[in-house]
Amino acid sequence: MSPANQDDFQSSLDTVISHISKRQSSIDKIPILPTSDSIANSISSLPSSLPEIGLGVSATTNYLIENVLPGILQAQNGPRYYGFVVGGVTPAAQLADILATSYDENVQVNLHQQTASTAIDQRTLELVLDLLDIPRSTFMGRTITTGATASNVLGLACARDHLLSQSPHLPSNYSWARDGPPSAPGLPSPPIVILSLYPHFSISKAASLVGLGSSPKIIQQLSAHSEDELAFDLSKFENRLKAEQEIRRGVIVVYGVGEVNTGGFGRDLDKVADLCRQYGAWLHVDAAFGGFAGLMPELSPYTKDMDKADSLTLDGHKWLNVPYDCGLFYTRHTSSLTNIFQPPSASAPAYLASNATTVEQGIEGDLPEGTILAADVPSPLFVNIENSRRFRALPLLASLLSLGKEGYREIITKNIHFARSIAIYIDKSENYELLNSSPSHLKSSQKDSIISSNIVLFRPSKNSPYPPSIPTSSIRLTKIINDSKQLYVSATSWRGQSAIRIAVSNYLTDEKRDLQIVLNVLEKVGKGEEVDFIN
Ligand SMILES: *Cc1c(COP(=O)(O)O)cnc(C)c1O
Repeated sequence: MSPANQDDFQSSLDTVISHISKRQSSIDKIPILPTSDSIANSISSLPSSLPEIGLGVSATTNYLIENVLPGILQAQNGPRYYGFVVGGVTPAAQLADILATSYDENVQVNLHQQTASTAIDQRTLELVLDLLDIPRSTFMGRTITTGATASNVLGLACARDHLLSQSPHLPSNYSWARDGPPSAPGLPSPPIVILSLYPHFSISKAASLVGLGSSPKIIQQLSAHSEDELAFDLSKFENRLKAEQEIRRGVIVVYGVGEVNTGGFGRDLDKVADLCRQYGAWLHVDAAFGGFAGLMPELSPYTKDMDKADSLTLDGHKWLNVPYDCGLFYTRHTSSLTNIFQPPSASAPAYLASNATTVEQGIEGDLPEGTILAADVPSPLFVNIENSRRFRALPLLASLLSLGKEGYREIITKNIHFARSIAIYIDKSENYELLNSSPSHLKSSQKDSIISSNIVLFRPSKNSPYPPSIPTSSIRLTKIINDSKQLYVSATSWRGQSAIRIAVSNYLTDEKRDLQIVLNVLEKVGKGEEVDFIN
């Protein structure tokens, strides 16, 4: 950089830092949504075509701060944004993400004698297993992804090839990745089915993308337990697995830990896993956010058997509160990943080869079983979709180190308590109806468990000014709540009825400060009264 450019960068950096710092210190007071004028101004300020002569760094930075950013969500990572499951950004993660950008390293090939980045990536994956008390040796196939959707893509792709490699209808070690869609006399059609209860929508996308198909003929709904709509009816499940085994069809079972509308877990993951093993089905556990609920000790029975999965999806950018985008993927069948992504050695481009010549010995001290040493880390491009790849591990590592297990346990526990306090209010209010009361087995196993975890699902009641007999009531009420700009909720549809959802997943949400604000808005809008909105 020339000295003049260096000054320009420095002064813009100061501007950015003071903007971030001001925002961070008032994030609990910022109206969550921009005004409609700000959105319009932001869009109309955009150049209609690329300027021939650039504006330079400081003019561009000022333009972003003054004209563009006011038109986007002002506090999606604030304490009262409860739409989707968005998490937030812990302070250490936010700073580390800025640093990751400033180094801009491409974490693609293991060049451990030149850079520690792939070792850092790998250790971060191990620390997340530590957080969940899953032995590192359980899941030796691991990678950091762009999110749970990408992790689900990897899970279904690994399952697909693993199942076909064992199909008696096909040549041994058949691989869809290598050989394309299978066809053989006697091969059932479809060759693989996906059995699940309420899979996240991303499972359908993943199934489409990896070529399995996503129609109801392929993604089939299992029967639910009579006392828990999210739990499998185990005897029907076993019969189903038996029937599929008889015709030697491949079966992927997708089990959700933390259903996205209700926060529910189902039950008997251990038994589901045993049956999958017995009948040769692949168990994919999608625990994007709910996998972390077990950090609250009372909920650990619902997550502790995730280590029995063949593949496991987790999200970093939801409950771990690291910035977008960050997901995690784990599998016990390490070669299922490399079989898909590693080219036959003869055809690997030479410039991508790592130079793993010497292995450092003894310097890592006493490492838990299943730790992968720096030299042995597979190059990320051979276990993941991407070739070039952002250094996503850095903000996750920073967040894990800054908080420790105890810090994360506190976030999870306080988020769940907060959601439960809202649920208690909803349940008592005559203007609302709670739709996701805990199943009886959860209620009886722990106190205060009105709902399973961090999500409140409800709708306006018959007595309210927005009765459910009018199909648009929940959507109208969602808009009125969000127009208050004091909190943000999302509209959804659960088992055919429209509903409203509050998902609590941000480290900043504070019962003392935020609960009363939320309950005041809900109380007023529930009665059809005006709320003061902030601007
Ligand atoms: C959010 C979510 C996904 C999709 O995750 P992204 O990170 O948005 O790709 C998948 N499964 C479950 C259970 C989820 O909650």
